[in-house]
Amino acid sequence: MSMLRSSLRNLFQRPVTTAYPNVQADLPQSNRGRVMWEMSKCIYCRRCERVCPTNAISTNKEAKSQTIVRNRCITCNACVEVCPTQTISMVADYSKPDLAPTVHIFSANLPDYNFRVEHLPRGSGSRRPDEVTND
Ligand code: SF4
Ligand code: SF4
Repeated sequence: MSMLRSSLRNLFQRPVTTAYPNVQADLPQSNRGRVMWEMSKCIYCRRCERVCPTNAISTNKEAKSQTIVRNRCITCNACVEVCPTQTISMVADYSKPDLAPTVHIFSANLPDYNFRVEHLPRGSGSRRPDEVTND
């Protein structure tokens, strides 16, 4: 097909891209979304922390909290599978892009699935959550 024909055809077609992040992504059914905690079920056994291949999770039994550095999570589902109390689940959700790594802190003091948001300094995303939250 000639370039002219192709250009003319594309003029009258809908764009194949979306206005991300202003337009929410159309997530497929198979999308794992992101990890969420139902903290009222957590027994602080740390299995999720230990199984996580990217060190994205930090369990704090004293503070009754779970911390996840979102950009470290590769949605492998290992923490969901290992949790003995089904505290963790993958929820179809939409993550907005961010300039700095985002940390979500789930706590027994908050309603289930709710979390506090913190941002790490840029370039610190390779650190473990417990190293970061102790700053
Ligand atoms: S594996 Fe489940 S119960 Fe154990 S610390 Fe993690 S979330 Fe809590
Ligand atoms: S889904 Fe995988 S990478 Fe993400 S927090 Fe759970 S174990 Fe870690």
